[in-house]
Amino acid sequence: MDGIDHDVIPSPPQPRVPVRGGGTFPVRRIYCVGRNFADHAREMGAVAPASKADRGQPVFFLKPANAIVTDGTVTYPPGTQDLHHEVELVVALGRDAPDGVLDPAAAQSLVFGYGVGLDLTRRDLQAAAKAKGLPWDIGKAFDDSAPIGELRRADDIGELAPRTLSLTVNDALRQQSRLDQLIWDVPDILHELSKLYALRAGDLVFMGTPAGVAALQPGDTCVARLDDVLELRCRIAPPRA
Ligand code: MN
Repeated sequence: MDGIDHDVIPSPPQPRVPVRGGGTFPVRRIYCVGRNFADHAREMGAVAPASKADRGQPVFFLKPANAIVTDGTVTYPPGTQDLHHEVELVVALGRDAPDGVLDPAAAQSLVFGYGVGLDLTRRDLQAAAKAKGLPWDIGKAFDDSAPIGELRRADDIGELAPRTLSLTVNDALRQQSRLDQLIWDVPDILHELSKLYALRAGDLVFMGTPAGVAALQPGDTCVARLDDVLELRCRIAPPRA
């Protein structure tokens, strides 16, 4: 009788993100934060909190680990006429969280480093799901929906708050914000996620996008940056026939 010590199909590839200076970061899960910049919450028709005390609960959703794109080519996805860019800071966890709720003061010790990414969104499908009170998954969690640039170690980036996140499409500025505009900063988000999930080394967190989300077309070239310390370049390729 066969044992259970062998895979019965070829093992799926492990998604990995290149790291500045060498090596790769194996991806376990991708968490995403919705409505984390007030200007974007308002442009999506949501009410932005007036202060930290009024911010309530963060909005979380996930993408599959193999949604990442690291070779700079995003294939325009099926099923949509309205693919949107959302430029985001990405946090990469290098250590497992301890059992229980993570103290925000201890959160930084889990962080390996940072990258910039795009939370690509099939906005038409997301809007239709929202209107019916259905889950957003088909609008957010699809193939090639998480292009990401090279990661850099946290020590190379330093303090996040004064840094500026931006996105150009075909050299025109589409989105730009300082990270001090985040409603929930990195320790806040890791603390809140730990109430709901076991955070582990290999997890990525897309931190949410500022205002200016808009449509992408095949042929577009995107350049996302955090100042001059992080960069993602990617091109939108035509849909598969
Ligand atoms: Mn987003």
